[in-house]
Amino acid sequence: MSIPAPMPDSHATPAEVAEVLLPLALASAYSYGVPKGMHLSPGDYVEVPLGPRSYIGVVWEVRPAVPTNLRMRDVSHRFDAPPLPETHRKFISWLADYYLEPIGNVLRMVLRVPAALEAPREQVAYRATGSAPKRMTPQRQRVLEILQDGFPLPASELAQAAGVGTSVVKAMAKDGALQAVALPALRPFAQPDPEAEAFALTPDQAIAADALKAAVREDKHSVTLLDGVTGSGKTEVYFEAMAQALRQGRQVLLLLPEIALTAPFLARVERRFGVEPAGWHSDLRPRERERTWRGVADGTAKIVVGARSALFLPWANLGLIVVDEEHEGAYKQDEGVTYHARDMAVLYGALAKFAVVLSSATPSLESLVNVDRGRYASVKLRDRHGRPELPEIKLIDMRAAAVPSGSWLSEPLLMEVKTALEAGEQALLFLNRRGYAPLTLCRACGHHLDCPNCAASMVEHRFRRLMQCHHCGHQEPVPNACPKCGTEGKLVPVGPGVERLAEEAARHFPEARLAILSSDITRGVLLRDVLRDVADGVFNLVIGTQLVAKGHHFPHLTCVGVVDADLALESSDPRAGERTWALLAQVAGRAGRGERPGRAFVQTYSPDHALMRALASGDRDAYYSQEKIIRQGAALPPYGRLAALIISDTDGPSAERFAKSLARNIPPTDDVQVLGPAVAPIAVVRGRHRWRLLVKAGREVDIQAFLRLWLQDVKVKGSLALQIDVDPYNFL
Ligand code: ADP
Ligand code: ZN
Repeated sequence: MSIPAPMPDSHATPAEVAEVLLPLALASAYSYGVPKGMHLSPGDYVEVPLGPRSYIGVVWEVRPAVPTNLRMRDVSHRFDAPPLPETHRKFISWLADYYLEPIGNVLRMVLRVPAALEAPREQVAYRATGSAPKRMTPQRQRVLEILQDGFPLPASELAQAAGVGTSVVKAMAKDGALQAVALPALRPFAQPDPEAEAFALTPDQAIAADALKAAVREDKHSVTLLDGVTGSGKTEVYFEAMAQALRQGRQVLLLLPEIALTAPFLARVERRFGVEPAGWHSDLRPRERERTWRGVADGTAKIVVGARSALFLPWANLGLIVVDEEHEGAYKQDEGVTYHARDMAVLYGALAKFAVVLSSATPSLESLVNVDRGRYASVKLRDRHGRPELPEIKLIDMRAAAVPSGSWLSEPLLMEVKTALEAGEQALLFLNRRGYAPLTLCRACGHHLDCPNCAASMVEHRFRRLMQCHHCGHQEPVPNACPKCGTEGKLVPVGPGVERLAEEAARHFPEARLAILSSDITRGVLLRDVLRDVADGVFNLVIGTQLVAKGHHFPHLTCVGVVDADLALESSDPRAGERTWALLAQVAGRAGRGERPGRAFVQTYSPDHALMRALASGDRDAYYSQEKIIRQGAALPPYGRLAALIISDTDGPSAERFAKSLARNIPPTDDVQVLGPAVAPIAVVRGRHRWRLLVKAGREVDIQAFLRLWLQDVKVKGSLALQIDVDPYNFL
């Protein structure tokens, strides 16, 4: 008989055992002893040993110990932070079940800011004294530039922002150019004033606001779709719902697609409620992250304006979520834990019993169908100025346009742009393709320049003088000679990107003040400046990607040309139509939002397509009814359910074998259809070979149960990866 050797830090049986969930790919919590003198409750943040390391986790359950718990290791530390509330723990469990994700991975999204668990501490920061350093270098210059706005920064943050080492900062402090100051622990949140500065609402807006306020006041779960064209005052109206939740002492989350989280928008929230809202997005400085996390946990951050992951902040007392631009694909996270933030916002409201508001000028079909089914309430807003939903839209039949090769602008479109420019107005040409050309070809041997890591072509970015892969980010200098046959001067661009289109536009309108708007210029200040200059009319001809479609207000813009309306339709994605509609309607809707009426021109090779016809007649309902029929006929969401399995491996044959073995072991069923396996549309990404299976079922089928049954004994070994995507949005 053998007696188990005692663990290094084990002792007598503890009185209590804590089940601690760790932020690792684990499906359940681990048991730890609660040491004498430590009091733990569910939701407490603790540190525990695991193997040679220690981890921060959350207590999921506490129960009395039994003698077999002898070998258990103890919780090593309890953090003095507000415990994670029960609703939030339920939310995590539910989300993990729904997306078939190990719950520990979901918890990791909550524990993004471990520093916030410690009692907030003072921090040493540096500010400029105003006296110049004895010796000025470009590095020192940059440090001073960063500090220009007057905010002191810790040495590490300052050094990082200026792109210098911390030694530069230290040396400047010694020199007298910088001064060390103690920052208070964390800047406390000022409390918003629900009545700070509201507009007098129009009668329409007031009715809408009352409906939303009533939903908030009811203190139970509801979802309301706020549906109205851009500029109809949706933001002002949902501000009223937010004010109502604040009056009731609750916290409010305003979710935005990351790209819409701009300084002017935040300033608008600040004006309305009298205080700066807490922010949550990828550009936030570590200290600000810590502050928001802590403020959400202790309930002092009342308004948070954030990107999708703000859902996972440890909400103390959430009473309303507003999802702005609810149709946006950006709410779906495709990597790591896959989830849809709009859907999860609705779920959160159901678990915690509060109102959710979804706002959009082009709602998703999912939300519209939920309105039809009576599950969501609907509130509509008409344009405040009585303008029609869309400007006048004309289709340009590209089959008849006879555009010379290497050009993309048809004669009718050029005429319209000319007219607008001559009238002193602004024109926008929209093409949803970054860079100069999507493809580069060798005229001598026919070779394409492809990414070495992906089955995708390299995109030329002529302004930045490089070739870039839009899937993995790989960059190379633009080659002179073909890498395959070595012939020089025979590489040619194929197809247009915005940069190439700008060249063509400049040829036709040499006098125009031209600006390109694409995410390639999103670095810091630049984009903000360009957007402002476009709004002010500094530029009169704008060439832009979908970046221009997102809610910006350009009062001088009267003429919009969509260069390739068919682009977004060419996709295997069942939502391609819906997405195209939203995009084109939003782009066209940029025209004529100022004093003068706008016109939009849509170049298409399929003018008879139902979507194009509905666009031309400005008949949104006709388009949506048509789309509903198509989706219903094919039993696609929201009339059916989908899940995708994506198999990938660095070794191609291994990925294929695994995909095929999965397909051989599909549990027998009549309710579920499995399509594939097939090579994924983008067959290789970052050196990983990809296969897909698509699971399709009726709306009433428990697709998760099917997936669990199918995958319960599946072992994913070595470099293989299996990603489960419930409700997929991306069909690459
Ligand atoms: P949406 O969110 O539907 O695009 P906004 O709420 O942003 O619309 O309103 C568009 C513009 O009109 C904003 O500048 C907003 O401040 C202004 N606005 C909206 N409603 C009113 C109102 N009742 N009185 C004055 N200005 C308003
Ligand atoms: Zn690549």
